[in-house]
Amino acid sequence: TGIYGSVFQLSDQLEVPTDLDLGIASFVLSQFPHPHVAESRIALIDSATNQQLTYAQLHRSIRSLACGLYHLGVRKGDVVFVLSPNSLLYPTICLAIFSIGAILSPANPINTPSEIAKQVLDSGAKFAISSPEELHKLVQTGVFTIVTSRHQSNDDSLSIEALIERCDPRELPEIKVKQSDTAAILYSSGTTGKSKGVMLTHSNFITTVRLVTWYAERTSSQNDIFLAFIPIFHIYGLGFFGLGLFCSGVTTVLMQRFELQAMVNAIQAYKVNNLPAVPPVILALVKYCKGNSSLSTLRRIGSGAAPLSKELIDAFRGQFPWIEIGQGYGLTESCGATSVFVSDEDARAHPGSCGMLVPKFFAKVIDIETGLALPPCKEGELWLKSPTIMKGYLRNEEATAATMDKDGWLKTGDLGYFDEDGFLYIVDRIKELIKHNGYQVAPAELEAVLLGHPNILDAAVIPVEDEESGQIPMAYVVSAAGSELTEEEVIQFVAAQVAPYKKVRIVEFINVIPKSAAGKILRKKLILQRQQHILSK
Ligand code: AMP
Repeated sequence: TGIYGSVFQLSDQLEVPTDLDLGIASFVLSQFPHPHVAESRIALIDSATNQQLTYAQLHRSIRSLACGLYHLGVRKGDVVFVLSPNSLLYPTICLAIFSIGAILSPANPINTPSEIAKQVLDSGAKFAISSPEELHKLVQTGVFTIVTSRHQSNDDSLSIEALIERCDPRELPEIKVKQSDTAAILYSSGTTGKSKGVMLTHSNFITTVRLVTWYAERTSSQNDIFLAFIPIFHIYGLGFFGLGLFCSGVTTVLMQRFELQAMVNAIQAYKVNNLPAVPPVILALVKYCKGNSSLSTLRRIGSGAAPLSKELIDAFRGQFPWIEIGQGYGLTESCGATSVFVSDEDARAHPGSCGMLVPKFFAKVIDIETGLALPPCKEGELWLKSPTIMKGYLRNEEATAATMDKDGWLKTGDLGYFDEDGFLYIVDRIKELIKHNGYQVAPAELEAVLLGHPNILDAAVIPVEDEESGQIPMAYVVSAAGSELTEEEVIQFVAAQVAPYKKVRIVEFINVIPKSAAGKILRKKLILQRQQHILSK
């Protein structure tokens, strides 16, 4: 890593296509294995059904579905909302949407109907693709719906499977897609406030895919088997399993969602070597897979989306000495990984680090008080610049301007430093975001829900550290005079309106929420208050 003044950068070069008229789908398809190999090489396996898809079948289904969507009236610039857990069809759906220049907006299928309605409305989606189980959540949204797979013979809803079977890709007109066009809108609360649409372009994804290839070339071979429980609706899963790994010709075993025993069984059954993961899963392996030989085929496990402690890494290495473990760091706003480890030796020599910057990235560490760039080993807010940085937040210039400066630097809201060798350490989060099992929970959203209770006058939500899940949301509540509101009532009130991972799990009643002169909640003060309270116990 070179250090130029106080700008950090990896010296490795990476070639990225410069043709401005190139979409991410054309690029990924151009990187598929050679047609002779593609007929037999397995791209995807469904761990639940053992159904398999070769690269050639994947290629054909993407082209057929693109044509099917086009015939349905999906046009360039139209937003297509996708609500589904991982499935063999998910990558086909993403790449078909990208092929016709439409915009993908994926969501977590466990979100509630009202959370889903908000995203559909905000993204401006006209079409929605849903797994049959989640279809009922779209009823109120007024979008044209398509189900992923046929479920019952008496059901006449249009399915992706039928579209793929029915459509001849030769009927698809040529659609010009530019690198600068928006390809996807993913949701993130950024440094403050509620969830916002992160606009990611074809160019952002093309660089992300090149970075996945760069990483895979250094850490795996073409015969490797990856396991994907990381959801494709999140940037981590989309970059890796929805797009990037297809350019390396590896096989991915897909799981609908994480479940420990099913994951261990799949690792064993398919002789999985590579497991991109999140800290709670690594903790679960350490806790519940003691003396377990079923992980014997695993060679590498990666961790991202939330901090992985040095202690947990040590415990993991002690228990599974044959498995390399490396941490990476990234954001939705940076379209995926920003720093990773590609060498186990480096990972062992730099415990607690998230690795080195990947090519194409520049980073600065900014002193929060002075706004000046800091040298190595000094802590400050991490700022990033790269061709993968988002175009901005959808229809939200204010939030975009607060997050990106005029030179294109993204303010991450994470506190960290680089050591003298260029390894990145994330030490704290200065933004409001709470991360539960790697998923985003925006305090502002829960506060709005709490304020909807007739007996709640004011509320503030903060993260509380939790061994199993990373963090849990805790609410400070000011209740109306004379009301007999209980902690349990508040917990139930929120739980009825939000997805399970967003639930408030601790409630404390206080007289007044500390605020700045401008009316901003002083969350840090509440976090400190909570820490002191725990220490005094
Ligand atoms: P998301 O946009 O959901 O991917 O969330 C991005 C945020 O997750 C980052 O800004 C960090 O706060 C956090 N995060 C991701 N990876 C790590 C990591 N390795 N260590 C600490 N925090 C992380």
